[in-house]
Amino acid sequence: NIQVLLVRRPQGWVQESDFRLVETELPALRNGEVLVKHLYLSLDPYMRGTMNDAKSYQAKVELEQVMRGGIVGVVEASRHPNFQENDLVSGYLGWQQYSISTGQDALGRNIRKLHPKAGIAPSLYLGVLGMPGVTAWIGLVSISQPKAGETLVVSAASGAVGSVAGQLARIRGCRVVGIAGGKAKCDYVVNELGFDACVDYKAGHLAEDLARATPVGIDIDFENVGGEVLEAVALRLNPLARIALCGLVSEYNEIAPQGFRNFGALLTWRIKLQGFNVGDPDSLKLWPQAQSELEQLILAKKLTYRESIVNGIEQAPGAFIGMLKGENFGKQLVKLT
Ligand code: NDP
Repeated sequence: NIQVLLVRRPQGWVQESDFRLVETELPALRNGEVLVKHLYLSLDPYMRGTMNDAKSYQAKVELEQVMRGGIVGVVEASRHPNFQENDLVSGYLGWQQYSISTGQDALGRNIRKLHPKAGIAPSLYLGVLGMPGVTAWIGLVSISQPKAGETLVVSAASGAVGSVAGQLARIRGCRVVGIAGGKAKCDYVVNELGFDACVDYKAGHLAEDLARATPVGIDIDFENVGGEVLEAVALRLNPLARIALCGLVSEYNEIAPQGFRNFGALLTWRIKLQGFNVGDPDSLKLWPQAQSELEQLILAKKLTYRESIVNGIEQAPGAFIGMLKGENFGKQLVKLT
């Protein structure tokens, strides 16, 4: 069983040497335990916070311990009454090829059994039908509460969360403008995800391009990035606009993030800002409703998604660092078998 351990807490950017791969023997299964073979590992921006020795919205990972992460896997052997061989399951079972547990994951939650309908690939439970998709749904439906005709801007627009948030907003009748890094991602956001426009923040004239793409201002900002992107968006917000603060990925590797310089705009325009976390108690109640809508949309082929897949657990550290730099294109996964 090859595992990826956290062996050093990064200062600034994550390095591959912050991780170590080890191979361990799997112990014999005891009564009440289940052996899961991991099929896919999800790589997510929140994991950067778990590497720090500080309070984040998820508990830190201890040094020399397996990196925490969501997986989809198949039960290979079971001495647990709730699981049978070949059950498809998901849970936070870590950056490794196999795991043995008593039916609970690293967050103390029950491992979930999955029953995918025809046409739904298991990997989707880590993306559009899993934590990122549900994050998009909650940030949009519960936090942003969009009305038809409003203009919504979403950053990291081609990514796992942003792509779903923007498509859900379009389905609800919003005018949707994405912000993404590079022409290829922007073309995808407009041509395949169906957003009304997309601004390439790397092109060097973000403020002008955003003004052109939002001629009547912005009513909702679904914020995934922070930094200069959020500052540019703030200057286009309409009175009483809302910001759903989902993430600040541009800051996760900064030792001293510069902070938000256009705070005054929020006061002037009476803006409401609300942070949220897909794992908080209020959010957990919304998961079934969110997953049900997302599944219906997938089955009806009304939701488009894209996955970036690398092969083999050895690739996980490099792919994780790449994702934080924007080298992923859609939901970043590691295929393990
Ligand atoms: P993505 O699939 O969007 O991948 C991360 C993307 O972030 C990159 O592809 C890159 O896109 C973008 N990015 C990285 N650095 C920068 C930068 N300096 N400036 C602008 N963009 C940057 O990841 P997810 O969809 O999984 O996550 C998106 C956000 O949602 C993150 O902030 C994450 O922390 C947050 N999140 C929050 C949750 C919650 O409960 N609140 C739950 C899940 C996610 P590009 O190439 O376009 O720059």
